[in-house]
Amino acid sequence: RIDLRSDTVTKPTPAMRRAMSEAEVGDDERDGDPTTRRLEERVASMLGKDAALFFPSGVMANQAAIRVLTAPATEVLVDATAHIVEGEIAGLAALNGVQIRPVRPSGRVMHAGDLARAIRQPSRYDPALSAVCIENTHNSAGGVVTAPEELRAIADVAHGRGLPVHLDGARLWNAAVALGTSPAELAAHVDTVMVAFSKGLGAPIGAAVAAPASLIDALWTARKLFGGAMRQSGVVAAAALYGIEHHYDRLAEDHRHARILAERLDGVAGASVVPPDTNIVMIDLPSGMDAEQVVAAAGLEGVHVTAWTPTRIRLVTHLDLSAADTDIAATVIARVLTAAR
Ligand SMILES: *Cc1c(COP(=O)(O)O)cnc(C)c1O
Repeated sequence: RIDLRSDTVTKPTPAMRRAMSEAEVGDDERDGDPTTRRLEERVASMLGKDAALFFPSGVMANQAAIRVLTAPATEVLVDATAHIVEGEIAGLAALNGVQIRPVRPSGRVMHAGDLARAIRQPSRYDPALSAVCIENTHNSAGGVVTAPEELRAIADVAHGRGLPVHLDGARLWNAAVALGTSPAELAAHVDTVMVAFSKGLGAPIGAAVAAPASLIDALWTARKLFGGAMRQSGVVAAAALYGIEHHYDRLAEDHRHARILAERLDGVAGASVVPPDTNIVMIDLPSGMDAEQVVAAAGLEGVHVTAWTPTRIRLVTHLDLSAADTDIAATVIARVLTAAR
């Protein structure tokens, strides 16, 4: 069985489980959990921010960050196909009382010009804008990387209008490795940044928000409001620390495997592969071919992928996928595409 549905499917390795079982722990809310504190300090320094707060999930972390940056009855400007729009129920509305103002990207992802065009002059008839969100890498667009210069341009547009910027960096590690830069450089111009540990780094769960010191108390309160106050969270934080120490540099291998899949599958039976920047491979099927059918046929041969839209399938490479698995997956999917023709 080869599972390419997501990089969330990875299981903690024996060594990661050992680190978890040996973690020094305490009651995080009462006294501070020492391993969680270590993780938060490490993440804050990796992202060049004053402080960071550990969360059980990326969704909760995104929602808490948006809560502290916005006020109810305002609008958040965000790329129309962002995870915050498509993958978090209607959390912005239900939890935070804010409305999404989707920005339609002119390219694959939102650029500074797209954002500038979406910002209205303040008017008593329109909802006030309160924040801007960006996603790097961009999942739905196919793991697309936004480079530091563009991030700076986007932040300049937002800050020029007095709007804070939240970066959904669930896969910011992948962007940094792909660009050969540091996560701090990619987070330099944003106000808050969420990073996830349960994707490429292979931890079972977990995320963090890094932010200026002035926002940490409010983030703590938002996390508690959403049911995320922590106790002996060091058991899980240890897995995240282990992932940072041991699984960060190898993300380049996932990117290599994604490129191999793309090279082997582009053009097969008329399929068109979006060239991957990182570990997500989007395959657009030729007209008449149905994504659900392709997914079912590949599944029967033990290769599991996702129907992203009725005409697009998504493959994600990760820690639990070897070079040999990549080769088998490419062979199986090529065969399935040819048969579906
Ligand atoms: C997975 C993901 C999240 C949410 O992370 P969870 O830890 O699964 O809640 C947020 N944003 C993006 C872009 C993601 O891919």
